[in-house]
Amino acid sequence: MSTIDLTGKKIVITGGARGIGAATARRLAQAGAAVAIGDIDADLAAETGAAIAAATGARVAGLKVDVTDRDSFATFLDDAEAALNGLDVLINNAGIMPTGEFLDETDAVTDRQIEINLRGVITGSKLAGRRFAQRGSGHIVNIASVAGISAAPGVAVYCATKHAVVGLGSALHQELAPKGVTVTTIAPSFVNTELTAGLSPNWLVRQIGWVEPEDVAAAICDAIAARRGGFRTVPRIGGIFLKILLPLPE
Ligand code: NAD
Repeated sequence: MSTIDLTGKKIVITGGARGIGAATARRLAQAGAAVAIGDIDADLAAETGAAIAAATGARVAGLKVDVTDRDSFATFLDDAEAALNGLDVLINNAGIMPTGEFLDETDAVTDRQIEINLRGVITGSKLAGRRFAQRGSGHIVNIASVAGISAAPGVAVYCATKHAVVGLGSALHQELAPKGVTVTTIAPSFVNTELTAGLSPNWLVRQIGWVEPEDVAAAICDAIAARRGGFRTVPRIGGIFLKILLPLPE
Protein backbone atom coordinates (compact mmCIF):
# COMPACT_ATOMS: atom_id res chain seq x y z
CA MET A 1 0.00 0.00 0.00
CA SER A 2 1.34 3.41 -0.96
CA THR A 3 2.09 5.94 1.77
CA ILE A 4 2.23 8.95 -0.53
CA ASP A 5 -0.89 10.97 -1.29
CA LEU A 6 -1.52 12.06 -4.88
CA THR A 7 -5.21 12.78 -4.43
CA GLY A 8 -6.39 15.27 -7.04
CA LYS A 9 -3.40 14.78 -9.36
CA LYS A 10 -4.24 14.08 -13.02
CA ILE A 11 -1.53 12.00 -14.62
CA VAL A 12 -1.02 10.53 -18.09
CA ILE A 13 1.47 7.79 -18.92
CA THR A 14 2.50 6.41 -22.30
CA GLY A 15 3.27 2.73 -22.75
CA GLY A 16 1.14 2.07 -19.69
CA ALA A 17 -0.60 -1.12 -20.80
CA ARG A 18 2.04 -3.41 -19.27
CA GLY A 19 5.46 -3.54 -17.59
CA ILE A 20 6.81 -0.46 -15.82
CA GLY A 21 3.99 1.70 -17.17
CA ALA A 22 1.23 -0.54 -15.81
CA ALA A 23 2.95 -0.88 -12.41
CA THR A 24 3.29 2.91 -12.28
CA ALA A 25 -0.34 3.51 -13.23
CA ARG A 26 -1.40 1.11 -10.47
CA ARG A 27 0.76 2.79 -7.84
CA LEU A 28 -0.41 6.25 -8.90
CA ALA A 29 -4.03 5.11 -8.64
CA GLN A 30 -3.37 3.57 -5.21
CA ALA A 31 -2.02 6.95 -4.13
CA GLY A 32 -5.27 8.62 -5.19
CA ALA A 33 -4.33 10.06 -8.59
CA ALA A 34 -6.61 9.97 -11.64
CA VAL A 35 -4.69 8.28 -14.44
CA ALA A 36 -4.90 7.98 -18.21
CA ILE A 37 -2.96 5.09 -19.69
CA GLY A 38 -1.97 5.50 -23.32
CA ASP A 39 -0.58 2.66 -25.38
CA ILE A 40 -0.24 1.61 -29.00
CA ASP A 41 -2.03 -1.58 -27.88
CA ALA A 42 -5.41 0.05 -27.27
CA ASP A 43 -7.14 -3.17 -26.17
CA LEU A 44 -4.49 -3.92 -23.54
CA ALA A 45 -4.55 -0.28 -22.37
CA ALA A 46 -8.32 -0.49 -21.87
CA GLU A 47 -7.99 -3.87 -20.11
CA THR A 48 -5.20 -2.66 -17.81
CA GLY A 49 -7.03 0.58 -17.07
CA ALA A 50 -10.24 -1.26 -16.17
CA ALA A 51 -8.38 -3.72 -13.92
CA ILE A 52 -6.58 -0.93 -12.03
CA ALA A 53 -9.79 1.08 -11.68
CA ALA A 54 -11.60 -1.98 -10.29
CA ALA A 55 -8.78 -2.76 -7.85
CA THR A 56 -8.25 0.77 -6.56
CA GLY A 57 -11.53 2.62 -7.08
CA ALA A 58 -9.57 5.40 -8.83
CA ARG A 59 -10.50 7.00 -12.14
CA VAL A 60 -8.31 5.23 -14.72
CA ALA A 61 -8.80 5.58 -18.48
CA GLY A 62 -7.17 3.28 -21.03
CA LEU A 63 -6.63 5.06 -24.34
CA LYS A 64 -4.87 4.58 -27.66
CA VAL A 65 -1.70 6.52 -28.47
CA ASP A 66 1.11 6.06 -30.94
CA VAL A 67 3.89 8.27 -29.61
CA THR A 68 5.54 8.36 -33.04
CA ASP A 69 2.50 10.16 -34.46
CA ARG A 70 2.24 13.78 -33.36
CA ASP A 71 -1.50 14.01 -34.07
CA SER A 72 -2.16 10.79 -32.16
CA PHE A 73 -0.17 12.13 -29.18
CA ALA A 74 -2.01 15.48 -29.24
CA THR A 75 -5.39 13.71 -29.43
CA PHE A 76 -4.37 11.43 -26.55
CA LEU A 77 -3.51 14.41 -24.37
CA ASP A 78 -6.80 16.12 -25.30
CA ASP A 79 -8.81 12.96 -24.57
CA ALA A 80 -6.92 12.32 -21.32
CA GLU A 81 -7.42 15.90 -20.15
CA ALA A 82 -11.16 15.60 -20.89
CA ALA A 83 -11.43 12.20 -19.15
CA LEU A 84 -9.49 13.33 -16.07
CA ASN A 85 -10.83 16.88 -16.02
CA GLY A 86 -7.32 18.30 -16.12
CA LEU A 87 -3.68 17.37 -16.67
CA ASP A 88 -0.83 17.82 -14.16
CA VAL A 89 1.82 15.27 -15.13
CA LEU A 90 2.99 13.50 -18.30
CA ILE A 91 5.13 10.38 -17.95
CA ASN A 92 6.94 9.55 -21.22
CA ASN A 93 7.44 5.83 -20.64
CA ALA A 94 6.78 4.04 -23.99
CA GLY A 95 9.90 2.42 -25.36
CA ILE A 96 11.28 -0.55 -27.28
CA MET A 97 14.59 -2.39 -27.13
CA PRO A 98 15.30 -4.67 -30.10
CA THR A 99 18.52 -6.62 -29.55
CA GLY A 100 21.14 -7.71 -32.06
CA GLU A 101 24.40 -6.79 -33.68
CA PHE A 102 24.60 -3.14 -34.73
CA LEU A 103 26.06 -4.03 -38.14
CA ASP A 104 23.14 -6.35 -38.89
CA GLU A 105 20.38 -3.97 -37.76
CA THR A 106 18.08 -2.80 -40.56
CA ASP A 107 17.41 0.91 -41.02
CA ALA A 108 13.73 0.25 -40.28
CA VAL A 109 14.56 -1.18 -36.83
CA THR A 110 16.96 1.70 -36.14
CA ASP A 111 14.39 4.30 -37.19
CA ARG A 112 11.67 2.71 -35.07
CA GLN A 113 13.82 2.97 -31.92
CA ILE A 114 14.63 6.61 -32.64
CA GLU A 115 10.98 7.40 -33.39
CA ILE A 116 9.59 5.77 -30.23
CA ASN A 117 12.38 6.17 -27.67
CA LEU A 118 13.54 9.67 -28.63
CA ARG A 119 11.16 11.51 -30.93
CA GLY A 120 8.18 10.25 -28.90
CA VAL A 121 9.70 11.75 -25.73
CA ILE A 122 10.49 15.01 -27.53
CA THR A 123 6.96 15.21 -28.96
CA GLY A 124 5.33 14.51 -25.61
CA SER A 125 7.61 16.98 -23.81
CA LYS A 126 6.75 19.69 -26.35
CA LEU A 127 3.01 19.08 -26.39
CA ALA A 128 2.59 18.80 -22.63
CA GLY A 129 5.36 21.34 -21.90
CA ARG A 130 3.52 24.06 -23.87
CA ARG A 131 0.30 23.38 -21.94
CA PHE A 132 2.13 23.38 -18.61
CA ALA A 133 4.23 26.49 -19.37
CA GLN A 134 1.13 28.42 -20.42
CA ARG A 135 -0.37 27.99 -16.98
CA GLY A 136 2.97 28.06 -15.13
CA SER A 137 2.73 24.59 -13.60
CA GLY A 138 3.24 20.96 -14.56
CA HIS A 139 5.58 18.00 -14.40
CA ILE A 140 7.19 15.90 -17.14
CA VAL A 141 8.79 12.57 -16.18
CA ASN A 142 10.93 10.89 -18.84
CA ILE A 143 11.91 7.24 -18.49
CA ALA A 144 15.49 6.83 -19.69
CA SER A 145 17.71 3.91 -18.61
CA VAL A 146 21.10 3.14 -17.15
CA ALA A 147 21.79 2.42 -20.83
CA GLY A 148 21.63 6.22 -21.11
CA ILE A 149 24.71 6.66 -18.90
CA SER A 150 26.57 3.45 -19.65
CA ALA A 151 26.74 1.12 -22.65
CA ALA A 152 26.33 -2.51 -23.59
CA PRO A 153 26.89 -4.44 -26.81
CA GLY A 154 23.82 -5.67 -28.70
CA VAL A 155 21.70 -2.61 -27.91
CA ALA A 156 23.77 0.20 -29.45
CA VAL A 157 20.94 2.27 -30.92
CA TYR A 158 18.83 1.77 -27.78
CA CYS A 159 21.80 3.14 -25.76
CA ALA A 160 22.06 6.07 -28.18
CA THR A 161 18.37 6.94 -27.79
CA LYS A 162 18.53 6.70 -23.99
CA HIS A 163 21.70 8.85 -23.84
CA ALA A 164 19.74 11.38 -25.88
CA VAL A 165 16.78 11.22 -23.47
CA VAL A 166 19.15 11.86 -20.55
CA GLY A 167 20.61 14.87 -22.39
CA LEU A 168 17.18 16.16 -23.29
CA GLY A 169 16.05 15.86 -19.68
CA SER A 170 19.10 17.73 -18.35
CA ALA A 171 18.46 20.59 -20.78
CA LEU A 172 14.71 20.73 -20.17
CA HIS A 173 15.21 20.57 -16.40
CA GLN A 174 17.06 23.89 -16.69
CA GLU A 175 15.01 25.48 -19.48
CA LEU A 176 11.52 24.74 -18.21
CA ALA A 177 12.03 25.24 -14.46
CA PRO A 178 11.68 29.05 -14.73
CA LYS A 179 8.34 28.44 -16.49
CA GLY A 180 7.06 26.40 -13.56
CA VAL A 181 7.52 23.04 -15.29
CA THR A 182 9.43 20.32 -13.41
CA VAL A 183 11.35 17.80 -15.53
CA THR A 184 12.52 14.51 -14.04
CA THR A 185 14.61 11.84 -15.74
CA ILE A 186 14.41 8.35 -14.24
CA ALA A 187 17.03 5.82 -15.30
CA PRO A 188 16.08 2.29 -14.25
CA SER A 189 18.57 -0.54 -14.12
CA PHE A 190 17.45 -3.84 -15.67
CA VAL A 191 13.79 -4.41 -14.90
CA ASN A 192 11.90 -7.66 -15.00
CA THR A 193 9.48 -7.00 -17.91
CA GLU A 194 8.78 -8.32 -21.41
CA LEU A 195 11.30 -5.78 -22.74
CA THR A 196 14.17 -7.69 -21.12
CA ALA A 197 12.67 -11.19 -21.33
CA GLY A 198 15.30 -12.34 -23.84
CA LEU A 199 18.37 -10.90 -22.09
CA SER A 200 20.92 -12.98 -20.23
CA PRO A 201 22.56 -11.50 -17.13
CA ASN A 202 25.78 -9.55 -17.76
CA TRP A 203 28.27 -7.74 -15.55
CA LEU A 204 26.01 -4.76 -15.06
CA VAL A 205 23.16 -6.91 -13.85
CA ARG A 206 25.49 -8.77 -11.50
CA GLN A 207 26.72 -5.48 -10.09
CA ILE A 208 23.40 -3.73 -9.73
CA GLY A 209 20.85 -6.52 -9.85
CA TRP A 210 17.44 -6.76 -11.39
CA VAL A 211 14.69 -4.54 -10.11
CA GLU A 212 10.95 -5.04 -10.31
CA PRO A 213 8.57 -2.69 -12.16
CA GLU A 214 7.15 -1.74 -8.75
CA ASP A 215 10.56 -0.34 -7.70
CA VAL A 216 10.58 1.99 -10.70
CA ALA A 217 6.93 2.87 -10.09
CA ALA A 218 7.79 3.85 -6.50
CA ALA A 219 10.62 6.13 -7.67
CA ILE A 220 8.33 7.80 -10.22
CA CYS A 221 5.57 8.33 -7.64
CA ASP A 222 8.06 9.74 -5.11
CA ALA A 223 9.40 12.22 -7.69
CA ILE A 224 5.87 13.33 -8.58
CA ALA A 225 4.78 13.68 -4.94
CA ALA A 226 7.90 15.71 -4.10
CA ARG A 227 7.90 17.57 -7.46
CA ARG A 228 11.55 16.59 -7.63
CA GLY A 229 13.24 17.46 -10.93
CA GLY A 230 16.62 16.32 -12.22
CA PHE A 231 18.07 12.87 -12.68
CA ARG A 232 18.06 9.68 -10.65
CA THR A 233 18.71 6.01 -11.16
CA VAL A 234 16.70 3.07 -9.87
CA PRO A 235 17.88 1.46 -7.69
CA ARG A 236 19.74 4.29 -5.99
CA ILE A 237 22.59 1.91 -5.15
CA GLY A 238 23.01 1.62 -8.92
CA GLY A 239 23.39 5.37 -9.01
CA ILE A 240 26.04 5.28 -6.31
CA PHE A 241 27.87 2.48 -8.11
CA LEU A 242 27.73 4.25 -11.46
CA LYS A 243 28.71 7.55 -9.90
CA ILE A 244 32.06 6.02 -9.01
CA LEU A 245 32.59 5.14 -12.66
CA LEU A 246 30.76 7.88 -14.51
CA PRO A 247 29.93 11.54 -13.99
CA LEU A 248 26.15 11.65 -13.78
CA PRO A 249 24.28 14.58 -15.33
CA GLU A 250 22.49 17.10 -13.13
P1 NAD B 1 7.40 -3.16 -22.03
O1 NAD B 1 7.80 -3.68 -23.37
O2 NAD B 1 6.93 -4.11 -21.00
O3 NAD B 1 6.28 -2.02 -22.19
C1 NAD B 1 6.42 -1.00 -23.16
C2 NAD B 1 5.04 -0.52 -23.54
O4 NAD B 1 5.19 0.53 -24.53
C3 NAD B 1 4.17 -1.62 -24.18
O5 NAD B 1 2.89 -1.66 -23.56
C4 NAD B 1 4.07 -1.19 -25.64
O6 NAD B 1 2.84 -1.58 -26.27
C5 NAD B 1 4.19 0.33 -25.53
N1 NAD B 1 4.58 0.97 -26.79
C6 NAD B 1 5.51 0.53 -27.69
N2 NAD B 1 5.52 1.34 -28.76
C7 NAD B 1 4.63 2.33 -28.53
C8 NAD B 1 4.20 3.46 -29.27
N3 NAD B 1 4.69 3.74 -30.49
N4 NAD B 1 3.26 4.28 -28.73
C9 NAD B 1 2.72 3.99 -27.51
N5 NAD B 1 3.06 2.91 -26.78
C10 NAD B 1 4.02 2.09 -27.28
O7 NAD B 1 8.68 -2.32 -21.53
P2 NAD B 1 9.11 -1.80 -20.07
O8 NAD B 1 10.23 -2.65 -19.62
O9 NAD B 1 7.92 -1.63 -19.21
O10 NAD B 1 9.75 -0.39 -20.47
C11 NAD B 1 9.10 0.85 -20.24
C12 NAD B 1 10.15 1.94 -20.38
O11 NAD B 1 11.20 1.73 -19.44
C13 NAD B 1 10.83 1.99 -21.75
O12 NAD B 1 11.06 3.33 -22.13
C14 NAD B 1 12.14 1.28 -21.52
O13 NAD B 1 13.15 1.67 -22.43
C15 NAD B 1 12.44 1.75 -20.11
N6 NAD B 1 13.40 0.91 -19.39
C16 NAD B 1 13.17 -0.41 -19.24
C17 NAD B 1 14.10 -1.20 -18.58
C18 NAD B 1 13.93 -2.67 -18.41
O14 NAD B 1 14.93 -3.32 -18.03
N7 NAD B 1 12.76 -3.25 -18.66
C19 NAD B 1 15.25 -0.60 -18.04
C20 NAD B 1 15.44 0.75 -18.20
C21 NAD B 1 14.50 1.50 -18.87
